[in-house]
Amino acid sequence: MSNSEIMVLKRQCDSCGKSFKVKVKNAGRYRVACPHCKNMVRFVVTKDEAPAKMVIAPRFIVPELGHPEKVKDKLYVIKKRGIVGHPYKVVCPDCNNEMSIIPPEAGKVLRTRCEKCGTIIAYKAVEPKE
Ligand SMILES: [Zn+2]
Ligand SMILES: [Zn+2]
Repeated sequence: MSNSEIMVLKRQCDSCGKSFKVKVKNAGRYRVACPHCKNMVRFVVTKDEAPAKMVIAPRFIVPELGHPEKVKDKLYVIKKRGIVGHPYKVVCPDCNNEMSIIPPEAGKVLRTRCEKCGTIIAYKAVEPKE
């Protein structure tokens, strides 16, 4: 599979009323100039319109999931809930190794093991709200 799936969407200019086609790759907010009158048209591409594997645009800033609280040696828990399918940055409290996680499931306790020092960080996730 290629990473460069491009979709062609039809949008209408809110200034001159004419429609035009735009090419998009990821879900997200877009701002394009109308080819007819050069008005800047803003629109949002939802993840339903974007190809499924393109739900997360790489240019989005990845937030930190939360502060890991120590439970016992080599085990930390993040109280904040992640959202299923969203990428987060987690910093290992023992060695400062930066890891990225994408919660795959809601309701369960999910664990990420630090590759460098073996510390386990546990967290939970919730389903995204529509
Ligand atoms: Zn226009
Ligand atoms: Zn570590």
